[in-house]
Amino acid sequence: MKIEDELYKQIIMEHYKSPKHKETMENPDKQQEGVNRSCGDEITLYLKLDGDIIKKASFDGVGCSISQASASILTNVITGKKISEAKNIIEKFKKMLLRGEEPEFAEEESDIEALEGVKRYPIRLKCALLSWNTLEQMLDEDNKN
Ligand code: ZN
Repeated sequence: MKIEDELYKQIIMEHYKSPKHKETMENPDKQQEGVNRSCGDEITLYLKLDGDIIKKASFDGVGCSISQASASILTNVITGKKISEAKNIIEKFKKMLLRGEEPEFAEEESDIEALEGVKRYPIRLKCALLSWNTLEQMLDEDNKN
């Protein structure tokens, strides 16, 4: 195993064991549930908005280490970002996992790269993507209104 892989594994385990932003939010501006039946992962995402800025993001749920770590990384990265920036990050995440591209992530987004190895395990892709798809769905609903 490469040193890089080992490091990435540690980042994932850290997010899993002590997730950031894992809490139910009182009176969120947005709330959305996501389920990955193939693994039994469940997640609820919460957002507090200030105009088009994500003032606060949190999640709650149960599931495997990949799904929970991914949600922790996601909520951590999008806090303080504009909605348009969050959408851009989702797009980069999907390019990385689904198309094998190597998009540039900003310094504060670098934990995302720890999930890159998941692309080698198609069965785990849904675990990693769950919270990101849930967020995308949540943000896309704005366009319909
Ligand atoms: Zn899972």
